[in-house]
Amino acid sequence: MKKIIYFLLLGLIINACGESKPSQKQTTSKTEQNSEEELSTNIVINSDDTMKFDKNILLIPAGKKITLTLNHNGKFPKVGMGHNFVLLKADTNVSEFAEKAAMARKTDYIPEGDQTIAYTKLLGGGESDTITFDAPKKGYYTFLCTFPGHWQLMKGKLIVK
Ligand code: ZN
Repeated sequence: MKKIIYFLLLGLIINACGESKPSQKQTTSKTEQNSEEELSTNIVINSDDTMKFDKNILLIPAGKKITLTLNHNGKFPKVGMGHNFVLLKADTNVSEFAEKAAMARKTDYIPEGDQTIAYTKLLGGGESDTITFDAPKKGYYTFLCTFPGHWQLMKGKLIVK
């Protein structure tokens, strides 16, 4: 009896897989299309008092000048809920960098060294900052907020295509 149930289940699974194949293919090609459309040279990221960015993935084209705006739509001042956008060079150890940054209060949590590609000012609620930078070469880069304690929630990937 158990064997029969097993084969019945197996049949169901195989059927389910067979049926879902065509729709899976469609979804994949749609996603790829969307990604192409989302390649942008003008990026806006929002943050607020809940300690997160509204985007965790940014797609930009290689070799272009990028304009990026960070908005802090919260109410808390920057001493309590400061946010910045810091884009790291590809070979940077993120947790080591974040630890160093958390100690760099005098420089608004940007540590000494040359591990960044670009960064905004540290913002408090109601503030925003716009920066421009040249897109680095194709690849994956980490961005984060370096205010102490924020980076594990406030980080994401910048993908250069
Ligand atoms: Zn922050």
